[in-house]
Amino acid sequence: MSKPYLDEEDISAVVDVLKSGNLVQGSKVLELETKIKDRFGVTQCSAVSNGTASLHLALLALGVGKDDEVIVPAFSYIATANVVELVGAIPVFVDIDLATFNIDVSKVEQRITPKTKCIMPVHEFGLCVDMDPILELSKKYNIPIIEDAACAVGAKYKGNYSGTFGEFASFSLHPRKSITSGEGGILVSNSIELDYKIKTLRNHGIEPNSIPMKFVEAGFNYRLTDFQAAMVSSQMRRLEAILTRKAELVKIYYNLLRKDIITLPFVPIGSEHSWQTFHVVLSNHAIRNALQEYLKKNQVFVNYGAQCIPEMDFYKNKYHFDSQQDFPNAYKAYSCGLALPLCETTTEDEINFVCELINKFQYAE
Ligand SMILES: *Cc1c(COP(=O)(O)O)cnc(C)c1O
Repeated sequence: MSKPYLDEEDISAVVDVLKSGNLVQGSKVLELETKIKDRFGVTQCSAVSNGTASLHLALLALGVGKDDEVIVPAFSYIATANVVELVGAIPVFVDIDLATFNIDVSKVEQRITPKTKCIMPVHEFGLCVDMDPILELSKKYNIPIIEDAACAVGAKYKGNYSGTFGEFASFSLHPRKSITSGEGGILVSNSIELDYKIKTLRNHGIEPNSIPMKFVEAGFNYRLTDFQAAMVSSQMRRLEAILTRKAELVKIYYNLLRKDIITLPFVPIGSEHSWQTFHVVLSNHAIRNALQEYLKKNQVFVNYGAQCIPEMDFYKNKYHFDSQQDFPNAYKAYSCGLALPLCETTTEDEINFVCELINKFQYAE
């Protein structure tokens, strides 16, 4: 479905670090943080060990804790909700818009309570959430925003990059994302004070640049290595090309894929999708499963795109959700959704082949 690609320059950047003797959170991590700041126009950046760690630290830095509430979409990768549980807070799920797979912004305000300490919109699959209404609510109720931009590096909303809207925004560098360090995460913000907390918490609670070291928090080890940072810095050269390439491939899907049993994702005017995943919805659960099976028989391996989180065992058992009733769109996206093959190195022929296969697929209602 997807395969990370590293060119010779990416690989030699890693090898150079391995030879240098400076392996962890050194000059290459600083260099990556500077590149990210310059590229996306934010003033602060902290690289950390993965995208989940970065969301976790953001919640902690905002002081979100026991019995606080955090608004999250009901359809996302499960880490979005797990980090809320990890700080002792309660994820308050909001259903999605089935056309975009993003949180239904018209349903957010009704879930705000005096306990709401954060709104965490997810730019699902690389499409920015309709941020204007979320920003309005944030202002009206004085609630900070953490963008889960794990999939959305380089995506734009009304001319602005994902990651530039919230108090914090988190990117993931997992191999399923557009640029990767194997494991890695990036947290950006425009607050020196908030970022200072992140830099302290990611490194055992050591106050940054303190000599002798001052241990001012019970922190984590959420550091990124220098060889991982160098690998990502090197891929930053290609980011624009990667995004352009994926957008070209996606056009083939839009042109060729049958539209009778498949609904293609909707991209609102003013949004630039980063196409971390090309996710479609089949007309029902049985057809989705049959299509997945049929593709597998033909050597095309596809998978679900994300979870209906309230339907997952931990959340269902803890909060007794009835997802079909409470989050019908998230349930549908999960039970009828499919992520089709797409990555930087996918060829036109491969997409054509997948489209032809799908268009020949026979099913019994
Ligand atoms: C990938 C992803 C994460 C987690 O990132 P990791 O780097 O794998 O920890 C969180 N949220 C979303 C929406 C993701 O897609």
